Amino acid sequence: ATATSKPPTTTLQDVFVSVKTTRSYHRWRLPVILKTWFQLAKEQTWFFTDTEDPEFQKKTNGHMINTNCSSSHGRRALCCKLSVELDTFLDSDKKWFCHFDDDNYVNVPRLVRVLGDYSPQQDWYLGKPSTKAPLEIISRENKSQKISFWFATGGAGFCLSRALALKMLPVAGGGKFISIGEKIRLPDDVTMGYVIEHLLRKPLTVIDQFHSHFEPMKFIHQETMHEQITFSYSRYSKNEVNVLKIDGFDSRLDPTRFLSLHCLLFPYLSFCPR
Ligand code: UDP
Ligand code: MN
Repeated sequence: ATATSKPPTTTLQDVFVSVKTTRSYHRWRLPVILKTWFQLAKEQTWFFTDTEDPEFQKKTNGHMINTNCSSSHGRRALCCKLSVELDTFLDSDKKWFCHFDDDNYVNVPRLVRVLGDYSPQQDWYLGKPSTKAPLEIISRENKSQKISFWFATGGAGFCLSRALALKMLPVAGGGKFISIGEKIRLPDDVTMGYVIEHLLRKPLTVIDQFHSHFEPMKFIHQETMHEQITFSYSRYSKNEVNVLKIDGFDSRLDPTRFLSLHCLLFPYLSFCPR
């Protein structure tokens, strides 16, 4: 075999990292990201929000993008944001589009390494579903027809190759993604699955190393954390949280466990205990 049979090598510079956030979360969710994984992908990461925020604009070196989408949690507002994320990627020169939520930790080197297994010149929709079966909906055009498709959970993160995004351009580019969301009346990540799996007939490739807080974080063993691509956190109830079980900083200092995770993955950093 020669080098020609290998896929082209992927570097961090090839990746467009997009984080969905909203006005009221900036102060609560962005600081831990800025302190940790953002430091490893400062040039590649963009925060898509719904307001001007001079403080965080400064803290991200001008990497906050005001989508002018409404700041409500409604389906329309969320599809609007993902639509702007996608269009911004299409305008860039990057080979991969990776979307995350603002409660994700992204293991940057691992993400790049896994993307290296796939060619951006081929159609790839990489992510992880949180349902056990494909979603079934009734066709809006033909009410007697059922449509079924998989979708990657937005809160776990997902990536699209440039080749696939270019095929989406005529159908869902230039803001059309919002109209599709309007038509099928489903959330943004589901709309993405509908566009890719149903309209374009390109299958989702399941990557198990993406994790949303739909999964119990305590099931991810500390020994395997290096291999995972994303992590998350959430609250089950007032006194029960869904966070990584990991040695490190005190929970009061590090409620999300992301500081401890960052130090597990990158122990040489100055703020890490040694
Ligand atoms: N989000 C948003 N607008 C809103 C509420 C949430 O853009 O009005 C974003 C938020 O910043 C996060 C994602 O949507 O990136 C998911 O929000 P959250 O974690 O609050 O809800 P979940 O769906 O995960 O329960
Ligand atoms: Mn969430």
